[in-house]
Amino acid sequence: MPSSSHAATEAATILLVEDNEDNQAIYCAVLTHHGHTVLQALDGESGVRLAREHLPDVIIMDISMPILNGYEATRLLKADAATAHIPIIALTAHAMAEDRQKAHDAGCDFYLAKPAEPRVVAAEVARILALSER
Ligand code: MN
Repeated sequence: MPSSSHAATEAATILLVEDNEDNQAIYCAVLTHHGHTVLQALDGESGVRLAREHLPDVIIMDISMPILNGYEATRLLKADAATAHIPIIALTAHAMAEDRQKAHDAGCDFYLAKPAEPRVVAAEVARILALSER
């Protein structure tokens, strides 16, 4: 399933890496409603594994997670040529400049401050998919 083009459709494969099960359920529901296929990981290590297996179009990455946190998982994905191109949206716990800087330093491409409303997450995914079509 090569994912090099979305020209025919907005539907994409989204990897949601988030250890909070309520957030998982809410974000999964809204992204599925928008026609996307959602892969779910509850920790950073599973997220890295699913990213390598499925090469999703966009990754939504929580920061505070067990086993590997979002910074560590992002560093691994951005250091791997197979996954480095995949846009990563960091879900930063606070709208603090320091958190955004750390996410940026780890290689995250975009940021959303938590709590992020589901429609905001879906809109950001759509915006990023549109950017990568160009
Ligand atoms: Mn978390």
